[in-house]
Amino acid sequence: MDIRFALAIGRLILSVGAPLVVAAGAASCGDPGAGADARPTRIALITLDTLRFDGFSPELMPETYRLMERGHVFSRFYSSTSTTQPTHATILTGLHPWEHGVTRNGLVLGQHFDLLPEVLQDEGYWTSAIVTSYPLKGSFGYDQGFDEFDDEFGVDYSRTWVGEEVEGGGFYSLGEDAAARARAAVAAAPIGPQFFWFHFFDPHDPYGDTPSGEGEVVVQLPALRYLGEKGDPTFADWLPRARAQYERDIQDLDRHLAGLIQSILADEAFETSVILTADHGESFGEDSSLGHGDRVSPSQVHVPMAILAPTVTGTDPAARLDVAGSVDLAATVAHIAGLTGTPFGGRSLVERNGSSWPAAGTGAAFGMRRLLPEDKVELRLDGSEHVQSQPVFYAHHKGRLIEGNSEDARPADPAAESPSGGPASAESLPDEEKIRALFAAFEASLEGAGAEELDSSAARDALGALGYGR
Ligand SMILES: [Zn+2]
Repeated sequence: MDIRFALAIGRLILSVGAPLVVAAGAASCGDPGAGADARPTRIALITLDTLRFDGFSPELMPETYRLMERGHVFSRFYSSTSTTQPTHATILTGLHPWEHGVTRNGLVLGQHFDLLPEVLQDEGYWTSAIVTSYPLKGSFGYDQGFDEFDDEFGVDYSRTWVGEEVEGGGFYSLGEDAAARARAAVAAAPIGPQFFWFHFFDPHDPYGDTPSGEGEVVVQLPALRYLGEKGDPTFADWLPRARAQYERDIQDLDRHLAGLIQSILADEAFETSVILTADHGESFGEDSSLGHGDRVSPSQVHVPMAILAPTVTGTDPAARLDVAGSVDLAATVAHIAGLTGTPFGGRSLVERNGSSWPAAGTGAAFGMRRLLPEDKVELRLDGSEHVQSQPVFYAHHKGRLIEGNSEDARPADPAAESPSGGPASAESLPDEEKIRALFAAFEASLEGAGAEELDSSAARDALGALGYGR
């Protein structure tokens, strides 16, 4: 069925108020939110800000990894963008950024979209969210459909760099506080089907601002970038220190996160599912850049993804090799909740192909770099300058990440080896014309996707204080 037709049908079903049908196998008949054994369903969607794919590992997150590997762990999962708001808008709507229109930070997610929490709320779910950084504040549209939305960022960190203190403090919260608030929200939730969205910020810069990083200098990304871009000789020393502090923050998060997940799972009154992913990764020079937002390179869009759910836990293979992305999460949660006929694009990642899970390499992932309101020059660590004016999309195609637009397509990571062993950039790209045609279609969709700007200088200041370029 044509996807737009399917979407239209899905919306029509919702708009006339017909009850959603319960999927066979996922839940008992006629009672969405009640698991197969009649316990209410509890779903926790956890988004970890700025966690690279290799950050979710048995070494860096041993406790959380040990819990999540009982379900399915994906190794070919890609975030929709390398920027916080656009990817989260995709996670909550099941739409690509060129469809929901939040193509950069500072835009408001439209009220006319059907968000995952709205659909679940309509089906009787209690919906509750804890977000831990300013870009996800409810005023940007992320509170739609939530019975409770906690977007208070109480921790006032001063940001320091080589002894210099930066004005502004923090507009975010860290793992210990967030996990405590999440546990309280779970404890206070009414009995019945429940959906939680928990967002954690710890891996995001400044690096080393969690208790694990104490004793080392806190490294701020803008300062690191300044040293790198001007070729300062101390950059070579600061880069590994920044990475080490980033990893300490991840290790600190692991303890709080694992404690939260464990407490959720321990409550046997519910049939519980946990989905864990990241909104984007982080570059530490691999792609000649730092941080995130300017590129759709593997270090910035290849992210962790793991699912614990009654239908997947304990089934083989636990290591999933099919390709998927942020756009698939809303459909996945809806499937776990036992709903069909929902308006979400993407595919359910807990759906089998007959009796087996999707094969290695099947599936798809698409995304884009954020759009900027005006041209910006990106200065890379190799000294090259790149003017950001055209949209840049990516597609995961035949095992490789391809980036570009209607005019040009190229490997997103030229340094990576091609399947034949040579440098990827030295070979012609298979299916280049088809990929450019796909990107042209994405470009055409962009024209019709408009998101509003939040008209608030306070919002701009707060985003700026966190280092979010506008
Ligand atoms: Zn983010």
